[in-house]
Amino acid sequence: MRYAVLGDIHANLTALEAVLEELKPFEVDEILSVGDLVGYGPSPRETLERVREEGIVSVRGNHDEACSGRLEPLFFSDSARRVAEWTRGELTGEERRWLANLPLSLDLEGCSLAHATYDYPREFRRITTLRDARASLEQIPSQVCFVGHTHVPVAVLQREAGSRELTFSVSSDLDLSSTHRALINPGSVGQPRDEDPRAAFGIFDVETSRYQLHRVSYDIAQEAERVRRAGIPSFLAERLALGV
Ligand code: ZN
Repeated sequence: MRYAVLGDIHANLTALEAVLEELKPFEVDEILSVGDLVGYGPSPRETLERVREEGIVSVRGNHDEACSGRLEPLFFSDSARRVAEWTRGELTGEERRWLANLPLSLDLEGCSLAHATYDYPREFRRITTLRDARASLEQIPSQVCFVGHTHVPVAVLQREAGSRELTFSVSSDLDLSSTHRALINPGSVGQPRDEDPRAAFGIFDVETSRYQLHRVSYDIAQEAERVRRAGIPSFLAERLALGV
């Protein structure tokens, strides 16, 4: 089984199209998403249409909850809240229900998915320290769990079963065959925040336990123009070019 893993697409259709094109030669069995399909970006309807057309298997992110009306965006920044409200108005009732009913976590063959953490997926906690990742690693039923939320590509590895020692890895090519558990963030398709503006995605091969992170350039100027035309805060276009 070979998966492509997409993180935080955020209604950036230009980036999503570039990633889907780049994925073709990999001939993956399934495309997975760790959520936040919409929010921030100017193309929520077109993005959901592409996600559903491609049969992408996704969990629900906090922006998906806010944009579907399931969650009030009380803890969002001003611009994120404004776009969540704008997105709600753009989506049809059927699309909002579809988003609101995505699962919070999923256990698949060889890996699990959650938006922020696998333990307490409803709380959308950030993983910024090794300690933040421990409970997720202890609870996943398979070797690997993919998460998003921070938009920063990184892996937390537990080399041996029962070991308290965890390590971060920012390698873009991980051989996990001698790793007990791994929590992996594939970065963000639609709003990278690691100062590399290229869209990110991961490829995970369950049989060989190999994970690779890929980056793909896309037409950021075109996407910035879409942001401006949608009338959502232009700062959201500017950050795309910086990867922050
Ligand atoms: Zn996000």
